[in-house]
Amino acid sequence: MATITMPTTPARTRIAPSPTGDPHVGTAYIALFNKALAVRSKGQFLLRIEDTDRERYVEGSEKMIFEALRWLSLDYDEGPDVGGPHAPYRQSERSAIYKKAVDDLLSRKQAYRCFCTAARLEQMRSDMKARKEQPGYDRTCRKLSEDDARAKLAEGVACVVRLAVPLEGQTAFEDGLRGKTVFENRTIDDQVLLKSDGLPKYHLANVVDDHEMRITHVIRAEEWITSTPKHVLLYRAFGWEAPAFCHMPLLRNKDKSKISKRKNPTSLIWYRDEGFLPEALVNFLGLMGYSMSDQREIFTKEEFIADFDISRVGTTGPVFDLQKLEHVNGEWIQKRISLDDFVRRISAHWKGKYDEALVRKLAPLIQPRIKKLKEWSDYADSFFFGCPDYKTEELSGKRTPAEAAAILDRTIALVAGAPSFEHKALEEAAKAAAAEANMKPRDFLAAVFVAVTGKPVAPPLFDSMEILGRDETLARLRKARAKLA
Ligand code: GLU
Repeated sequence: MATITMPTTPARTRIAPSPTGDPHVGTAYIALFNKALAVRSKGQFLLRIEDTDRERYVEGSEKMIFEALRWLSLDYDEGPDVGGPHAPYRQSERSAIYKKAVDDLLSRKQAYRCFCTAARLEQMRSDMKARKEQPGYDRTCRKLSEDDARAKLAEGVACVVRLAVPLEGQTAFEDGLRGKTVFENRTIDDQVLLKSDGLPKYHLANVVDDHEMRITHVIRAEEWITSTPKHVLLYRAFGWEAPAFCHMPLLRNKDKSKISKRKNPTSLIWYRDEGFLPEALVNFLGLMGYSMSDQREIFTKEEFIADFDISRVGTTGPVFDLQKLEHVNGEWIQKRISLDDFVRRISAHWKGKYDEALVRKLAPLIQPRIKKLKEWSDYADSFFFGCPDYKTEELSGKRTPAEAAAILDRTIALVAGAPSFEHKALEEAAKAAAAEANMKPRDFLAAVFVAVTGKPVAPPLFDSMEILGRDETLARLRKARAKLA
């Protein structure tokens, strides 16, 4: 049960993605809710890059995160590429800050140095496994005397620093969306805070930075919930006040499993390349775990933020249904953007592949028909790059080739002699020809449609003819007729 309410003072929120690959759709989802809380409370929304795990680090990933957030207009007030009063916002550049924090914990015995070698830890783990004990550090070095520890340090023995987790009792915190959450301390491992190379581990860097950056609300995915007691213990060890925690429900595949690449594309780059509008993707993410007070399904980011109330975020796993996203995207393309805007977006999406003047002519015919910018090519290509090779079966459809040929002959005569090449006049003439042939216009025109547009899906026939012009229309009809000979 949600216990959190909207803050009455400015909130500072953040996302803290790790640059380990393509920017993830979950990052955008969490960013939206963090941004909404910050904007609604007249606070700030930050981007911090958590790049301390050098093994999982992927070159270029950070830049893609910046670009993806900007593409979605989920811009941040402070961050590595925009600066801010708490710079640097990249953890790899904050080592001195973590070192100082750890020294403070060591001096107050809230943390201790652990000299166990990798081989010893390995042995310990396999022994524990054999005894079917819960895995975790056996706290050998926690019992080392100060003198012994100092001697090892002086000898230059490599060490990590671990948090001295209370051995008994419980650690509880209030999850703003889920209520009181309690963990038994004996189930919490003595976390490594600082590695032997002096670099921090996630828990330490995350807590130190949230404190230093004055974060008031940590809104993050449910998968981090087991980290939170460790963070709460760290805040206590430092003597700092912890921020409010809200763990958002995980996005799920249709089968309710955690969203995964295997079942759903997860890269924001993929969504951009498919021709989803950033507005539509943000709109769709706003529907995950939240519903507008008037149940509206199509809304802008600004409308979402204006409506946003964190106490109304649900915790049941929202299903990331691609078909639903396509529907939302279709609504955006067809109803929420102007024709001029559509033309601009087509040109930008296709990076100038299509002649702008012709895009403009075709746009009114295609905009009402597509759900993704990528589908433009299905409808438009035959206007730009000529007719694809016809397939006899497609041309003849339900008729025999001879019947289809007769229809095309009749149409060629009609098109050649049409007094006007305006689509309404063409339609009238074709209907008359169909009546003469004793056929329904639809049946009569099936072959003509394929001959003119080259495809079973295309803009309406007579508009297409008008745009192609008489010569090109005739050329296509003749080429198709020859195929049926
Ligand atoms: N670096 C973590 C991530 O990759 C941050 C989790 C958090 O928000 O605390 O998502």
